[in-house]
Order: sequence, then structure tokens, then C-alpha cells
Amino acid sequence: MQPAPEEHALETLSVDLLVIGAGVAGLSAAAHAVQLGLTVGVIEKAPEPGGSAALSGGFCWSPADLDTAWREDPDGDPELVRVLVEGFADAIDWVRSLGVYVSEQVPARVNTFPSFGYSIDILGFIRRARVLVEEAGGWVVTSADTESLIIEDGEVRGAVVADRDGRVEVRAGFTLLASGGFQNNSALRAKFLGAAAGHVVLRSNPNSTGRGLELALSAGATLSPHMNSFYGHLIPTPLANPFEPRDYVRLAQLYSPRCLMLDKSGGRFADESRSYHHNARAVARHPDGVALLVGDEEVTDSDRSGYGGVSEQIDRIEEARLAGGHTARADTLAGLARQAAQWGYRDVDHAVERFNASIAVGGADLDPPRRYADRAFDKPPFFAVEVQSALTYTMGGPLIGPDTQVLRPDGEPIPGLLAAGADAGGLYHDAYLGGLSMGLTFGRRAAGRAAHR
Ligand SMILES: Cc1cc2nc3c(=O)[nH]c(=O)nc-3n(C[C@H](O)[C@H](O)[C@H](O)COP(=O)(O)OP(=O)(O)OC[C@H]3O[C@@H](n4cnc5c(N)ncnc54)[C@H](O)[C@@H]3O)c2cc1C
Repeated sequence: MQPAPEEHALETLSVDLLVIGAGVAGLSAAAHAVQLGLTVGVIEKAPEPGGSAALSGGFCWSPADLDTAWREDPDGDPELVRVLVEGFADAIDWVRSLGVYVSEQVPARVNTFPSFGYSIDILGFIRRARVLVEEAGGWVVTSADTESLIIEDGEVRGAVVADRDGRVEVRAGFTLLASGGFQNNSALRAKFLGAAAGHVVLRSNPNSTGRGLELALSAGATLSPHMNSFYGHLIPTPLANPFEPRDYVRLAQLYSPRCLMLDKSGGRFADESRSYHHNARAVARHPDGVALLVGDEEVTDSDRSGYGGVSEQIDRIEEARLAGGHTARADTLAGLARQAAQWGYRDVDHAVERFNASIAVGGADLDPPRRYADRAFDKPPFFAVEVQSALTYTMGGPLIGPDTQVLRPDGEPIPGLLAAGADAGGLYHDAYLGGLSMGLTFGRRAAGRAAHR
């Protein structure tokens, strides 16, 4: 973009769709929009497009069917969940149609419910989407930011954006918020995540600071009902070195649902069998801010690896040890408890024995109850890993309708304003049915909405 000649006479550009954020949601929208014949401009804050998608494992997955999805995400908006699940197959076909590598379908084995997915060349997708936009005459401007939305008569008509060359007014039929959530904004985290915000480390691109949320609020958006929800992973603690993007996939302790999760008093405090991301939220919200994963030989090597993507065949307990985390192995529970006591965990052996005794009589008295995998931990050797919570993205945001339109408090859409991906609220609450799928599906949906104004 070229600078405005004078402060009070901003240069004006015009596009059908202005996209704020070039991650998976924004680029899906932009690339699909040019295929639909729209003129498109993309503003990206980072020096390169990609966002958290570029850091991701590239495993794009979906629940097996809609009933499973509704059951696993009971507080999510059912119509948004329907869009996600019913749009998944088309989204995958579309990625393939762009010439981007997509693997055969495999089970998403990290989940405790029926689900399947595909490894996709996510960096290839990011490159290809950008090229599509630029070949069609659109633009992708990096190291740029959005100062404000242009709001006229209650309608969003674009935004004032700034890059190294200056400020420009971009007038647009539709403006899509796709800046990836507010996890990097400590004030917004404290406001919406509350106590949990103090305990988490970040596992995200560094630029998602809630700009989409702030812009949506400036246009009169209503917020999704559950602003305190987030997606994350358990990672080892302590860490010998700063937690860097190269650690984000390798150090995720994905096998936690197959373990017991204990606090420092030796008590269970969550149904740890539901999912690794439920566990990440539970640890973030616990006053200790850390917890102990305990398992035995039956928590096998395959449980310790990833979703199913080839890049994720990792021994995560060994990775935790190499990263400086508290890890222990022992042939007896007493031996394990002695090691964990050095990190402040009391009565670990008695906690496991109490759990095993309960399982022996059916587990009905477990408090909290366990939904899945009710088995005794009685096959030595035993292991323990101390964990903390790492936040990937926030789930709350401006509430959207099924066509990605940002809604007002009265439920009516704000004309001209769309949101997709982690910027959009309403899809998930303390549940997770995929992140890349969310960006692809709702990004494409936003393009469709902009094409049918
Ligand atoms: C390590 C890691 C591994 C993951 N693995 C998987 C996986 O295997 N499968 C899966 O389904 N999901 C995975 N995810 C989650 C997935 O990457 C996210 O859910 C997804 O990227 C969210 O898409 P998005 O487009 O909303 O945000 P992002 O992809 O993060 O894109 C947001 C973009 O907006 C930009 N931006 C921010 N503020 C502004 C602003 N003011 N103006 C302009 N641009 C702005 C950011 O720089 C970024 O480029 C992983 C995430 C991480 C971090």
C-alpha cells in the first residue's frame, strides 16, 4: 500500500472482501473469495502469513458425525457445530483441489470419541492460498494493522489500516475478522479467563492480541456466552529453557486422558479421562497451576504419540524429561511417590491405590467420576510427569451466526461484518472439535456470505 499524501486525505482502496488476519481462516476466506469472483485484500500483522496454523501439526480432523459433535460440544451453538461438521468434507476436497498434499483418511486417535482426519501440507496451503489471491489481482499486505473499522449508519464499510508506508482507508462490502483470538493480550486474558489466566504459558503465534474482538465490540457486537473458554495442552514443568514454537507439538502431553491426574494434596480434581484439552483447562483453573500425571505400563507408546499425523510419532514422556521437566519412573507405587514428594506431591501411592480399589468394585464412588477408560493402574513400571497448562487459542469472541455474520445483542447481524476461526465466538465451549477444520470451514463460509450480499 502507498502512503496517504496528507493526513486528512487518506488514500482509498476498494475491495469486495477485506480480511484481517492471514491464518488458516483468513486465507481460506480470501482464496475462496477470489475463486467466487470477488476482489480481496488481506491485512496481516506478522511479517509472513500463517499465524498459528503455520506452527500447527497440520492434522485436520472432524468428529465422525453430527451427533457425536453435538454430544462432545453440548454448550456450543448447535447450528455452528452443524456448519463445522457438514462443511468438513468439502473443505478437505477444496484443499486437495488447490494441489496441496492431503493424506488418506486416518482415525484421529488422540480423541476419546469417534473422529477421523487428514495430514495436510499446511505450509503448502498457506503459500498456495496467498498465490491464488495475488494471481487474481488481490493483495496480501504483511506487517500491517487495523486502526479502526469504517462504520456508517450502523454498517461496517471497511477499515482504516496502516503499514510501513502509511495509512489507507480500505472500503469493503464485507470485512472479515480473522486475527486468531486474544490469547496474547494479558488484560483481555485477565478479564475473560480470570484466575486461569495467571497460570498459563502461551502456545500460539505471538500476534493474536484480540484486535478482532476489539473491532467487533466497536461495531456493537455481542459476545459469545462462554468467554472464559480456551484450547490448550498440558506441557511439562519446569522447563529448562523458554517454551519456543519448536517445542509446541513435541512437548504436548497428549496422553493425559489415559492417566490419573493428581494435585499436590494427592487428590483427583477433574474427569481426566475426557480429553487432553479438558485437562489443560482444569490445571489452569486449579489454584496449584500444576498437576501430576501418573500412569503405568499400559499407557503405551502409541498413546504417547499424536493425533495420527506422521510428524507426531513422539515419546512425549521422554521429551518432557529432556526438556527439564519433572518426570519419574519406578517399579513400585511407593518408589514413584517418594520421587513425586520431592516436587511437593503428597500420598501419590495412596491416591493410586484408592483409585484402583474403587475400580475393583466398579468405580461408582469415584469423585469426580471418569467417563472413559476405567481401569486400575497396576502394571509396573509406573511413571509420573508434572505438567502445567499452555494456551493455544481463546474460544470466546464476538458471537456469529451460521453464515459467519457478527451478531448484535438483539441477535441481528451487523451489516458488513464477519468473523471466522478463533476470532469467532459460539462454536466451542470447553470442548474442541478441531482448529484447522474450524478455520477452513468458516473461512470458506465467510467467502460464500460475501459473494451473496
Ligand atoms: C503448535 C500448534 C499446533 C496445532 N496443531 C493443530 C493440528 O494439528 N490440528 C488442528 O486442527 N489445529 C491445530 N492447532 C490449532 C490451529 O492452528 C488453530 O486453531 C488455527 O490456526 C486457528 O485459525 P485462525 O485463522 O483463527 O488463527 P491463526 O491461524 O492463528 O491466524 C490468525 C492470523 O491473524 C494475524 N493477526 C493477529 N492480529 C492481527 C491484526 N491486528 N491485524 C492483522 N492480522 C492479525 C496473526 O498474525 C495470524 O497470522 C495448532 C496450534 C498450534 C499453536
